[in-house]
Amino acid sequence: MLSDAPTIAHLPISPPSRPKLLVVDDQPINIQILHQLFSATCQVFMATSGEQALQVCHDKQPDLILLDVVMPGMDGYAVCRQLKADEATAHIPVIFVTGHNDPEQETLGLDVGAVDFIAKPVNPKVVQARVKTQLTLKFQADLLRQLVYLDGLTGAYNRRYFDQQLGHEWARSVRSGTPLSMILLDVDFFKRYNDFYGHQAGDDCLRQVAATLKSHLRRPADLAARYGGEEFACILPETSFDDALELANQLGQQVQSLHIAHARSDAATVVSVSLGVAAREGDSRGSAGELLGLADTQLYRAKSTGRARACGERLG
Ligand code: GH3
Ligand code: MG
Ligand code: MG
Repeated sequence: MLSDAPTIAHLPISPPSRPKLLVVDDQPINIQILHQLFSATCQVFMATSGEQALQVCHDKQPDLILLDVVMPGMDGYAVCRQLKADEATAHIPVIFVTGHNDPEQETLGLDVGAVDFIAKPVNPKVVQARVKTQLTLKFQADLLRQLVYLDGLTGAYNRRYFDQQLGHEWARSVRSGTPLSMILLDVDFFKRYNDFYGHQAGDDCLRQVAATLKSHLRRPADLAARYGGEEFACILPETSFDDALELANQLGQQVQSLHIAHARSDAATVVSVSLGVAAREGDSRGSAGELLGLADTQLYRAKSTGRARACGERLG
């Protein structure tokens, strides 16, 4: 039987050999000290202001931040609050490094989301030990997120994550009045592919299809997930029906451009997919479930009218 359960060996991401550490302090001398302590074991990034720190967090996605509290302009607490309020950076642990060692300051730091507090001047052994602990915890949390939200075979998001995001994006689309599109796609004659080329080849084919989807969806909010065995689903926020249909046709072409031979397909000489597109636009009614249902109906239509094509409809 096939197993969809992610295993650690399958996971596309493993703990990096050189963790990324961001050191934030308005005094370059303080940065230098920490840089010297960690440059042998970590990839160290530096920022001398709160604004710069936020930028580096978005660009580099560090594994841990050593954050000064008192800085001109945006202070450490404000930086930490912003990081925690943003989904893209909320998971990055923050250790405050500060000259103030008063319990109220420390409690405030923990309240805004820091995981630890270190007093200046730093003791090299203490700061190294605490950084090591927090990096270990960070990698365990990363691993857990992967196990919960990623598909073990393809590295795409799994259905659990897809369902969750579809709910969020539906609500956001209703609130903001921006369109929301989705694409369901299913590999054509995949049972025959497995029977003829074997399951290993089948698995490899699924990985290639997933990689094609991931590389072709360009907007940061777009998402590709493995929906079932040989079925994938894409969520396309702020994408109109027309654009989604065009994208679906391109995705179908891209899969065929992989030129994976499929001698037993009646739809093409290579592996192809059928795609169903659905969109909510303007004052569409219904629910996220109905959008998914409509995409499924359109996928069925693509299958029954010859496969290797996209069909779509707007939600009424
Ligand atoms: P259609 O064109 O109508 O979609 O036909 P199909 O053969 O693709 O559809 P069907 O649902 O009959 O068969 C799907 C096949 O996908 C059967 C199953 O063995 C295979 N499959 C599902 N998950 C996996 C997987 O993880 N790895 C491999 N190798 N095959 C899988
Ligand atoms: Mg199929
Ligand atoms: Mg199927």
